[in-house]
Amino acid sequence: MNTNCAKAFTAMCLGSFLTPWALSAVETANDDQYLSWPVYSGQDLELDATPRQANFRLWSPKAEAVRLMIYPTDRNSKAIETVDMKASENGTWTASLAGNYYGKFYTFSIKHNGRWLDETPGVWAKAVGTNGHRAAIIDFDTTDPAGWSDDRGPVVDNITDVVLYEMHHRDFSVDPSSGIVNKGKFLALTEAGTHNQTGESTGIDHLKELGVTHVHILPSYDYNSVDEANLPSNQYNWGYDPYNYNVPEGSYSTNPADPVVRVREMKEMIKALHDAGIGVVMDVVYNHTADNDGSNFSLTAPGYYYRHRSDGSYSDASGCGNETASERKQMSDFIVNSVKYWANEYHVDGFRFDLMAIHDTETMDRVAAELKKINPSIFVYGEGWTAGDSPLPAERRALKENVAKMEGIAVFSDDIRDAVKGHYSNAADRGFATGKPGNEETVKIGIVASTAHPQVDYSKGNNSKFAYASAPTQIINYVSCHDDLTLTDKLAKSMPEASETERQRAARLAQTIVFTSQGTPFMFAGEEVFRDKKGVHNSYKSPDSINAIDWNLKHKNSEQFEYYRQLIKLRKEHPAFRMTTADQIARHLVFDEKTDENVISYTLRDHANGDVWKEIKVVFNGNPKAMEVKVAKRNWTVIAEDGRIDADGLGSSRGGKISVAPTSALILAR
Ligand code: CA
Repeated sequence: MNTNCAKAFTAMCLGSFLTPWALSAVETANDDQYLSWPVYSGQDLELDATPRQANFRLWSPKAEAVRLMIYPTDRNSKAIETVDMKASENGTWTASLAGNYYGKFYTFSIKHNGRWLDETPGVWAKAVGTNGHRAAIIDFDTTDPAGWSDDRGPVVDNITDVVLYEMHHRDFSVDPSSGIVNKGKFLALTEAGTHNQTGESTGIDHLKELGVTHVHILPSYDYNSVDEANLPSNQYNWGYDPYNYNVPEGSYSTNPADPVVRVREMKEMIKALHDAGIGVVMDVVYNHTADNDGSNFSLTAPGYYYRHRSDGSYSDASGCGNETASERKQMSDFIVNSVKYWANEYHVDGFRFDLMAIHDTETMDRVAAELKKINPSIFVYGEGWTAGDSPLPAERRALKENVAKMEGIAVFSDDIRDAVKGHYSNAADRGFATGKPGNEETVKIGIVASTAHPQVDYSKGNNSKFAYASAPTQIINYVSCHDDLTLTDKLAKSMPEASETERQRAARLAQTIVFTSQGTPFMFAGEEVFRDKKGVHNSYKSPDSINAIDWNLKHKNSEQFEYYRQLIKLRKEHPAFRMTTADQIARHLVFDEKTDENVISYTLRDHANGDVWKEIKVVFNGNPKAMEVKVAKRNWTVIAEDGRIDADGLGSSRGGKISVAPTSALILAR
């Protein structure tokens, strides 16, 4: 059984080059059989309940028989009814029960090859009890917080206007320094007025102060690894081990046994964030399941939902023991309908697809198109790589190299990530911001969001050799995330001789490159207070002592926080950093030629993207010594210099020869 996988290393390692493996058939011979299975497109799968009746419909085309069990409680009880379901249209089985079943629980069991399989809550459970083993029948009207029908997330015209903040519920609030009551829970983000020991804001007030537009929450659907019956035992998991895709995770609720509570509390969290003007992005992991034969997919329609090798074994592009088969209609529909459900029922504003390249581009196109119909502000991005080979041909995979073929999908730029701070898997490796020459052209690829630009030579790119994005709206820029070393730890391991002050300067330079680049910026929670994870690069099940953010760092590193806050303010106030087309970037962003080693200098000219500033000069000095640059002699306002930044200006400059301080950004505007 595979309940977790060390995905951090494998998931990222293939991001760095075009998939080298040979193309294979669309389906292996073994998987051809599934093409002939009937599919069911109705929206009433598994449960449709009212106060007068409960109707059940399970999709299981090859089942020999199907049973429905009704339970009085979520566990430790015997079935009060067992019903033989009837074969119905398009591979489904149905049963109808008269009466009010709210408060009851149910499971299905199918007969397969003459044997009754283990009970399952199905694949479309929308409420569950403890550990998700039994689905629950609840009245969803009772789950809505006050004012829910008027709840709206922020309007997003272009994804490039978004500032993403990736957080784990436990990291964010579990440390005593958060001052938050509901530690590690959805409700943590509903608490206003919380602060650390020295009075600096924490929680949702901190997010408002920082100015991010969207929080990207790590997996918050019901996952497998944390025992919801034993929550005080200080368990931690990132949650990349999906169990019930359409139900919130119980350990983030205050009572996993009551199926209404987790639904209502997640909605309360989303409402509180929306009321604060902040959107919510869900990390979704449809590419694999925690279990193979024991998953809800396998227990309802054995074989169908997964890809297999020619010998019949599970193929494993996820590095987690299996991979799902989005090219099959019922699985593609499952993904599309699942994200639609989260958007409609929970008002989710965006989706981040884990190992997105395991999915086919056609399914991702459908995801984006269907979500835009619900709310044009919803956006979708993902990891444009796999963690292993797949039977799905490379040209059909939602790879970063195929992003231009998709509509409304963005991918993470591993180009800028590795070039700015050094390679993710080699802790000691340095990048542009930490003084290693040779990364300049790849940083430039990041600055132009991997679009075609007359002054960028893609043949010198470290990770990508062509302009794979057709627009900056297809690129997410970052230097760290939950995977791999935090930026703080990466800097500690790659510049061990440097002081903490010097490492903080390097972090400022690295994030200044991210936040001024074209594309959408993304940051890992807590980096604004220089949080670390004690050097642990794959902390997916490490204890709170590794993962929790110490909010007293906000006091100790107050200047770091202020730098990040100003950086975000600068980006949000100036559309020149948020162009929406490749053509705009090619016309308005001009690099200076003949710069010194490990110096990048460019101009955003002619009121780029309607900016009030006519011209913006951006210079990055990745060298540990001051470097001289020539700037046009004009009356400039200094926005950033020598590790300081103020979106409203630090002072003035006449241009000419300017000394750029070691490991720092110079930004001038007029
Ligand atoms: Ca769970």
